[in-house]
Amino acid sequence: MSLHDALKAECYEANLLLPKYGLIDLTFGNVSVADPSKGVFAIKPSGVDYDHLSPREMVVVDFDGAIVEGTLRPSSDTPTHRRLFQAFPGIRSVVHTHSRNAVAFAQAGRGIPCLGTTHCDYFYGEVPVTRPLTAQEVESDYEWETGNVIVESFREIDFSTVNAVLVHSHGPFAWGPSGAKAVETAHALEIVAEMALKALHLNPSLQPASPHLIEKHYLRKHGADAYYGQPEQPC
Ligand SMILES: [Zn+2]
Repeated sequence: MSLHDALKAECYEANLLLPKYGLIDLTFGNVSVADPSKGVFAIKPSGVDYDHLSPREMVVVDFDGAIVEGTLRPSSDTPTHRRLFQAFPGIRSVVHTHSRNAVAFAQAGRGIPCLGTTHCDYFYGEVPVTRPLTAQEVESDYEWETGNVIVESFREIDFSTVNAVLVHSHGPFAWGPSGAKAVETAHALEIVAEMALKALHLNPSLQPASPHLIEKHYLRKHGADAYYGQPEQPC
Protein backbone atom coordinates (compact mmCIF):
# COMPACT_ATOMS: atom_id res chain seq x y z
CA MET A 1 0.00 0.00 0.00
CA SER A 2 1.17 3.52 -0.71
CA LEU A 3 -0.20 6.99 -0.29
CA HIS A 4 -0.69 7.21 -4.04
CA ASP A 5 -2.32 3.86 -4.88
CA ALA A 6 -5.62 5.40 -5.98
CA LEU A 7 -3.82 7.90 -8.22
CA LYS A 8 -1.66 5.18 -9.78
CA ALA A 9 -4.71 2.97 -10.37
CA GLU A 10 -6.60 5.79 -12.12
CA CYS A 11 -3.52 6.58 -14.22
CA TYR A 12 -3.06 2.91 -15.17
CA GLU A 13 -6.72 2.50 -16.15
CA ALA A 14 -6.62 5.67 -18.25
CA ASN A 15 -3.43 4.58 -20.04
CA LEU A 16 -5.08 1.27 -20.96
CA LEU A 17 -7.91 3.18 -22.65
CA LEU A 18 -5.47 4.55 -25.26
CA PRO A 19 -4.89 1.23 -27.09
CA LYS A 20 -8.56 0.30 -26.47
CA TYR A 21 -9.68 3.37 -28.45
CA GLY A 22 -7.03 2.86 -31.15
CA LEU A 23 -5.16 6.04 -30.21
CA ILE A 24 -1.74 4.39 -29.91
CA ASP A 25 0.83 3.08 -32.34
CA LEU A 26 3.86 1.39 -30.77
CA THR A 27 4.49 3.21 -27.46
CA PHE A 28 3.69 6.77 -28.62
CA GLY A 29 1.41 8.15 -25.95
CA ASN A 30 0.90 8.63 -22.24
CA VAL A 31 -1.62 9.73 -19.65
CA SER A 32 -0.95 11.46 -16.34
CA VAL A 33 -3.39 11.96 -13.47
CA ALA A 34 -2.78 14.56 -10.77
CA ASP A 35 -3.75 15.08 -7.17
CA PRO A 36 -3.51 18.88 -7.01
CA SER A 37 -4.12 18.90 -3.24
CA LYS A 38 -0.87 16.96 -2.78
CA GLY A 39 0.97 18.64 -5.68
CA VAL A 40 1.76 15.32 -7.38
CA PHE A 41 0.82 13.37 -10.47
CA ALA A 42 1.15 9.76 -11.65
CA ILE A 43 2.38 9.13 -15.18
CA LYS A 44 3.19 6.17 -17.41
CA PRO A 45 6.79 4.96 -17.28
CA SER A 46 8.91 5.69 -20.34
CA GLY A 47 8.93 3.25 -23.25
CA VAL A 48 7.02 0.43 -21.52
CA ASP A 49 4.71 -1.51 -23.81
CA TYR A 50 1.00 -1.22 -22.97
CA ASP A 51 0.76 -5.03 -22.69
CA HIS A 52 3.27 -5.02 -19.84
CA LEU A 53 1.98 -2.16 -17.72
CA SER A 54 0.74 -2.59 -14.17
CA PRO A 55 -0.59 -0.01 -11.68
CA ARG A 56 2.48 -0.27 -9.43
CA GLU A 57 4.76 0.73 -12.34
CA MET A 58 3.15 4.16 -12.63
CA VAL A 59 5.66 6.81 -11.57
CA VAL A 60 4.59 9.55 -9.15
CA VAL A 61 6.22 12.95 -9.71
CA ASP A 62 5.70 16.21 -7.83
CA PHE A 63 4.84 19.53 -9.49
CA ASP A 64 8.52 20.55 -9.20
CA GLY A 65 9.63 17.50 -11.19
CA ALA A 66 11.05 15.32 -8.40
CA ILE A 67 10.20 11.61 -8.44
CA VAL A 68 8.15 10.84 -5.34
CA GLU A 69 7.49 7.14 -5.95
CA GLY A 70 8.49 4.56 -8.55
CA THR A 71 11.53 2.68 -9.77
CA LEU A 72 11.14 3.23 -13.51
CA ARG A 73 11.90 6.41 -15.41
CA PRO A 74 8.75 8.49 -16.03
CA SER A 75 7.62 9.25 -19.58
CA SER A 76 10.04 11.57 -21.39
CA ASP A 77 7.05 13.92 -21.89
CA THR A 78 6.71 14.42 -18.11
CA PRO A 79 7.92 18.07 -18.16
CA THR A 80 5.19 18.93 -20.71
CA HIS A 81 2.53 17.41 -18.45
CA ARG A 82 4.01 19.25 -15.45
CA ARG A 83 3.93 22.57 -17.31
CA LEU A 84 0.24 22.09 -18.13
CA PHE A 85 -0.70 21.17 -14.55
CA GLN A 86 1.02 24.37 -13.42
CA ALA A 87 -0.55 26.62 -16.05
CA PHE A 88 -4.10 25.26 -16.28
CA PRO A 89 -5.52 25.21 -12.75
CA GLY A 90 -8.28 22.71 -12.11
CA ILE A 91 -7.27 20.10 -14.68
CA ARG A 92 -6.51 16.66 -13.22
CA SER A 93 -5.32 14.70 -16.24
CA VAL A 94 -3.22 15.25 -19.36
CA VAL A 95 -3.20 12.90 -22.35
CA HIS A 96 -0.70 12.82 -25.18
CA THR A 97 -1.07 10.61 -28.25
CA HIS A 98 0.19 10.38 -31.81
CA SER A 99 -3.28 9.51 -33.11
CA ARG A 100 -2.98 9.61 -36.86
CA ASN A 101 -5.57 12.11 -38.04
CA ALA A 102 -4.79 14.65 -35.33
CA VAL A 103 -1.10 14.25 -36.15
CA ALA A 104 -1.88 14.90 -39.84
CA PHE A 105 -3.19 18.37 -38.86
CA ALA A 106 -0.23 18.94 -36.51
CA GLN A 107 2.25 18.02 -39.22
CA ALA A 108 0.47 20.27 -41.70
CA GLY A 109 0.70 23.08 -39.15
CA ARG A 110 -3.07 23.56 -39.13
CA GLY A 111 -5.57 23.78 -36.31
CA ILE A 112 -8.71 21.65 -36.59
CA PRO A 113 -11.52 23.99 -37.64
CA CYS A 114 -14.95 23.52 -36.15
CA LEU A 115 -16.79 22.24 -39.22
CA GLY A 116 -19.82 20.63 -37.60
CA THR A 117 -21.75 19.63 -34.53
CA THR A 118 -19.58 16.64 -33.53
CA HIS A 119 -16.70 19.05 -33.07
CA CYS A 120 -18.64 21.68 -31.15
CA ASP A 121 -20.16 19.09 -28.82
CA TYR A 122 -16.64 18.81 -27.39
CA PHE A 123 -14.64 21.91 -28.35
CA TYR A 124 -15.89 25.50 -28.33
CA GLY A 125 -14.24 26.48 -31.61
CA GLU A 126 -11.07 25.58 -33.49
CA VAL A 127 -8.54 23.32 -31.77
CA PRO A 128 -5.36 25.39 -32.19
CA VAL A 129 -1.94 24.36 -33.43
CA THR A 130 1.09 25.78 -31.64
CA ARG A 131 3.85 27.69 -33.35
CA PRO A 132 6.92 25.60 -34.23
CA LEU A 133 9.54 25.41 -31.50
CA THR A 134 12.72 27.37 -32.20
CA ALA A 135 16.09 25.61 -32.53
CA GLN A 136 17.06 27.00 -29.16
CA GLU A 137 13.87 25.68 -27.51
CA VAL A 138 14.44 22.23 -29.00
CA GLU A 139 18.07 22.15 -27.88
CA SER A 140 17.55 23.49 -24.37
CA ASP A 141 14.70 21.97 -22.37
CA TYR A 142 12.67 20.47 -25.20
CA GLU A 143 9.75 18.87 -23.34
CA TRP A 144 9.32 21.83 -20.95
CA GLU A 145 9.41 24.24 -23.90
CA THR A 146 6.77 22.11 -25.61
CA GLY A 147 4.58 22.88 -22.60
CA ASN A 148 5.44 26.56 -22.93
CA VAL A 149 4.35 26.81 -26.57
CA ILE A 150 1.07 25.10 -25.62
CA VAL A 151 0.48 27.63 -22.83
CA GLU A 152 1.37 30.45 -25.24
CA SER A 153 -1.32 29.21 -27.67
CA PHE A 154 -3.96 29.67 -24.95
CA ARG A 155 -3.28 33.33 -24.18
CA GLU A 156 -6.53 34.20 -25.93
CA ILE A 157 -8.30 30.85 -25.79
CA ASP A 158 -10.01 29.44 -22.71
CA PHE A 159 -8.33 26.11 -21.85
CA SER A 160 -11.52 24.98 -20.10
CA THR A 161 -13.69 25.20 -23.23
CA VAL A 162 -11.06 24.10 -25.79
CA ASN A 163 -9.34 21.35 -23.86
CA ALA A 164 -6.95 20.09 -26.53
CA VAL A 165 -4.14 21.38 -28.71
CA LEU A 166 -1.92 20.23 -31.55
CA VAL A 167 1.80 20.72 -31.08
CA HIS A 168 3.27 21.78 -34.43
CA SER A 169 4.99 18.93 -36.34
CA HIS A 170 4.26 16.62 -33.40
CA GLY A 171 0.77 15.73 -32.18
CA PRO A 172 -2.13 16.28 -29.81
CA PHE A 173 -2.37 16.91 -26.08
CA ALA A 174 -5.74 16.91 -24.31
CA TRP A 175 -6.74 17.43 -20.69
CA GLY A 176 -9.68 17.09 -18.35
CA PRO A 177 -11.05 16.56 -14.83
CA SER A 178 -10.21 12.82 -14.69
CA GLY A 179 -8.09 10.28 -16.54
CA ALA A 180 -11.12 8.74 -18.24
CA LYS A 181 -12.55 12.11 -19.29
CA ALA A 182 -9.23 13.38 -20.67
CA VAL A 183 -8.84 10.18 -22.73
CA GLU A 184 -12.42 10.62 -23.99
CA THR A 185 -11.46 14.12 -25.14
CA ALA A 186 -8.35 12.78 -26.91
CA HIS A 187 -10.60 10.20 -28.57
CA ALA A 188 -13.13 12.85 -29.61
CA LEU A 189 -10.28 14.93 -31.00
CA GLU A 190 -9.13 12.07 -33.21
CA ILE A 191 -12.69 11.49 -34.45
CA VAL A 192 -13.27 15.14 -35.36
CA ALA A 193 -9.81 15.32 -36.98
CA GLU A 194 -10.74 12.42 -39.26
CA MET A 195 -14.10 14.01 -40.09
CA ALA A 196 -12.46 17.38 -40.81
CA LEU A 197 -9.79 15.79 -42.99
CA LYS A 198 -12.46 14.09 -45.11
CA ALA A 199 -14.71 17.16 -45.26
CA LEU A 200 -11.79 19.36 -46.36
CA HIS A 201 -10.88 16.76 -48.97
CA LEU A 202 -14.41 16.91 -50.39
CA ASN A 203 -14.51 20.70 -50.22
CA PRO A 204 -11.10 22.38 -49.78
CA SER A 205 -12.66 25.84 -49.40
CA LEU A 206 -15.00 24.72 -46.62
CA GLN A 207 -15.61 27.32 -43.90
CA PRO A 208 -16.23 26.71 -40.17
CA ALA A 209 -19.77 26.08 -38.93
CA SER A 210 -21.77 29.19 -38.06
CA PRO A 211 -21.12 30.77 -34.64
CA HIS A 212 -24.77 30.30 -33.59
CA LEU A 213 -24.60 26.54 -34.30
CA ILE A 214 -21.27 26.19 -32.49
CA GLU A 215 -22.67 28.06 -29.50
CA LYS A 216 -25.89 26.05 -29.41
CA HIS A 217 -24.18 22.67 -29.52
CA TYR A 218 -21.41 23.49 -27.08
CA LEU A 219 -23.65 25.13 -24.51
CA ARG A 220 -26.38 22.49 -24.58
CA LYS A 221 -23.76 20.01 -23.30
CA HIS A 222 -21.58 22.27 -21.15
CA GLY A 223 -22.07 25.11 -18.71
CA ALA A 224 -24.81 26.23 -16.35
CA ASP A 225 -27.73 25.77 -18.75
CA ALA A 226 -26.66 22.42 -20.22
CA TYR A 227 -29.59 20.12 -20.94
CA TYR A 228 -28.04 17.30 -23.05
CA GLY A 229 -28.06 13.85 -21.39
CA GLN A 230 -29.38 13.04 -17.94
CA PRO A 231 -29.09 15.26 -14.88
CA GLU A 232 -26.39 14.19 -12.41
CA GLN A 233 -27.75 11.84 -9.75
CA PRO A 234 -26.70 12.42 -6.16
CA CYS A 235 -24.28 9.72 -4.96
ZN1 LIG B 1 4.87 12.72 -28.71
